[in-house]
Amino acid sequence: MSDHSTIEWTDATWNPVTGCSLESPGCKLCYAMKLAGTRLKNHPSRAGLTTMTSAGPVWTGEIRVNEGWMEQPLQWTRPRMIFVCAHGDLFHEEVPDAVIDRVFAVMALARRHTFQVLTKRARRMRQYFAHPVREALIGKQIAQLEFAYSGNPMSVWTGLPLYNVWLGVSAEDQRRADERISELLDVRAAVRYLSLEPLLGPIQLNAQLLTRVETGSQAGQRFIDWVIVGGESGQGARPMHPDWARSLRDQCHAAGTAFFFKQWGEWMPRGPESWGYPLIDGVPRVRLTDTGEDGSDLGSGGDHHVWMQRPGKKATGRLLDGRTWDEMPNAAGGVAPC
Ligand code: SF4
Repeated sequence: MSDHSTIEWTDATWNPVTGCSLESPGCKLCYAMKLAGTRLKNHPSRAGLTTMTSAGPVWTGEIRVNEGWMEQPLQWTRPRMIFVCAHGDLFHEEVPDAVIDRVFAVMALARRHTFQVLTKRARRMRQYFAHPVREALIGKQIAQLEFAYSGNPMSVWTGLPLYNVWLGVSAEDQRRADERISELLDVRAAVRYLSLEPLLGPIQLNAQLLTRVETGSQAGQRFIDWVIVGGESGQGARPMHPDWARSLRDQCHAAGTAFFFKQWGEWMPRGPESWGYPLIDGVPRVRLTDTGEDGSDLGSGGDHHVWMQRPGKKATGRLLDGRTWDEMPNAAGGVAPC
């Protein structure tokens, strides 16, 4: 739980649930897993959630519901953007539906805040919302919370979707994007978004974005409102080809979707300097093709290769071709100027 976050696209983190298990290749260097097995390994919210291996800490698959943090957003008075479950996955298979109901009840009551929910378990998220009495179950939790706080339940519950809750899926490559975006598009949300970090290969979004526009009931409706792109951090990080990020930026702008370039991560292009990519001596370099999915193609041929260098995350920054991209969705699903 943190009233302040260093994550570039949010203000604070809220961790009603911690713990997870590896879901796909993008989880390999999970920062939350590393933290849970090192600096926070004795903290009640993390103790026993990881096991030490020769490759470092690994999630055990156990999750923890942090009762002491469950209602924290209700006590934060200043409105802020809150990333939900930054150290786990709210839709992990071990998180009971009733716990998720409570999280949504808190978000329904803390309407001064904007909540960003992000998951790799897109199918579970869709199934959760598809439950025939989901709104009634969340409404019951809201009434209990209101009673606890004021002794007088009020009827503020107007149902789903909550206008202050953004729902997103995380994907690292085309296969996971295809699987998870289709599930996300079946869920109603004030804002739908994608976190494509760590980006491990090229992703083509146009078909998913535009198909729904053509077949949707509301002409011109935008279905993906926001896309975040970033490279990988941590020891052993895999480089992100600049063309993968450029392509996503261009696809977003063609579809009217906000684009946020979060970071390069450990690796960055080696030149041109005029685009914000200095030549740094004494650091590792690789020749990266534009088709590599997980770094296995490093050093091989390819249609469009680029030399990458690894000066470390603090040095790589977040310029994409000479500028930052900090576009955010607005409440109506439009693009806010950056
Ligand atoms: S789903 Fe998220 S929290 Fe869970 S292991 Fe993967 S990266 Fe870590």
